[in-house]
Amino acid sequence: LTERLSKAMKNLTGRGRVSEEDLHATMREIRLALLEADVNYGTVKRFVANVRGKASGADILEGLDAPQQVVKIVNEELTKMMGDEAVPLNKSPQIPTIIMMAGLQGAGKTTTVAKLAYKLKQENKARPLLIAADIYRPAAIDQLEILGKDLDIPVFSLGTDTDPRDIVRAGLEEAKQHRNDYVFIDTAGRLQIDEVLMQELKDIAEIAHPDEILLTVDAMTGQNATETAKGFSESLDLTGVVLTKLDGDTRGGAALSIRDVTGKPIKFVGQGEKPTDLDVFYPDRMASRILGMGDMLTLIEKAQKDFDEAAAEKQLEKLRENTFDFNDFVAQLKQVQNMGPMEDILKMIPGMANNPALANLNVDEKQFIHLEAIVQSMTPAEREDPDLINPSRRRRLAAGSGRPIVEVNRMIKQFDQMRKMMGQATNGNFGGMEKMMGA
Ligand code: GDP
Ligand code: MG
Repeated sequence: LTERLSKAMKNLTGRGRVSEEDLHATMREIRLALLEADVNYGTVKRFVANVRGKASGADILEGLDAPQQVVKIVNEELTKMMGDEAVPLNKSPQIPTIIMMAGLQGAGKTTTVAKLAYKLKQENKARPLLIAADIYRPAAIDQLEILGKDLDIPVFSLGTDTDPRDIVRAGLEEAKQHRNDYVFIDTAGRLQIDEVLMQELKDIAEIAHPDEILLTVDAMTGQNATETAKGFSESLDLTGVVLTKLDGDTRGGAALSIRDVTGKPIKFVGQGEKPTDLDVFYPDRMASRILGMGDMLTLIEKAQKDFDEAAAEKQLEKLRENTFDFNDFVAQLKQVQNMGPMEDILKMIPGMANNPALANLNVDEKQFIHLEAIVQSMTPAEREDPDLINPSRRRRLAAGSGRPIVEVNRMIKQFDQMRKMMGQATNGNFGGMEKMMGA
């Protein structure tokens, strides 16, 4: 989707003005790009008609910045089609807020329960309870229990021999007793939508009166994702959608048509298998991403969240006192590492998302590990006073870390430069330095 669209937009921005023909050709490309990305046909038609209507106003076509205006209109329409604003999770006025999952087998319900509960726990200090109501696959209960154990979140289960409706009743009772503020009901799915599944979900909804019924849809299923969403929304009072597996090679078409076809907001997107791989869905950011402008805001948010402010402050203090040492060096490396795979971060930078060079790029995360290994081979004294590290000590470090001596030398040189640069910054332009360190 992105490649084709950004090519169409680039063709347009390469010119000074937009003729009726240019616009026609561009709209054709956009239409093809969206269809190719499995966007629902009706949605594509509506989208193209809207953009065309707005873009063919005479004053837009004649202005010198016409191409930018077309890009702007496309961007705005994409955003609008995906719902304009981020829609937050519903919250019950009294505890607990009950969140029920729905979706086909393998869509990511269980994973999303864990991710969302973990997010609430981390960000809101919530005390969630997870109810294991998928009794059809024994592994499903184990899966939730393992996730709960890893994340230190309680899981309520009655095994596979109790009716899911009774499990939900008992689970809600348990939540009441323990005063949990959020309850997640992890339900069963099927390969296809069928009556039995729908009846079970309807019954559970009737028993639990959930504040939120979240449909989990696998973005990789293309056109089927929209069909699935439509099917579920006809039987259940969905309150929102979680679009999973948007990482990797997914075609983002589902993000465009689900809202349009079901009228239900996408609230979160799953971008990987780890508990932290869940993000709030921002229509405007998704639109920019689709247009190949990168996703700067998500990147900035990620950096802010993952950057440990207390640690940064401490390192800053050390700089003021000029005692920045190898221990701090390692701490800094860790902070960068915590932000996630380098490739992911680079891809969010504008212009990089579609950069062909990046497609084959494999940023060597091992380098971090190597640097850390070298520092770990140092004695505490050496870590605190890098000036101690003479050539024979360097040879020892190389042997101890299993890295070539040139690498040890390079690292020490880098460290020296960093310290010098920071020293200058602390003496002079201190504001810039604080900014750089995120303080
Ligand atoms: P359920 O049957 O709906 O409960 O689906 P699961 O939660 O068991 O997920 C099915 C598979 O999809 C598992 O292997 C998950 O790790 C994987 N999965 C779920 N969400 C995501 C996601 O956002 N990205 C990726 N790459 N994998 C996911
Ligand atoms: Mg499951």
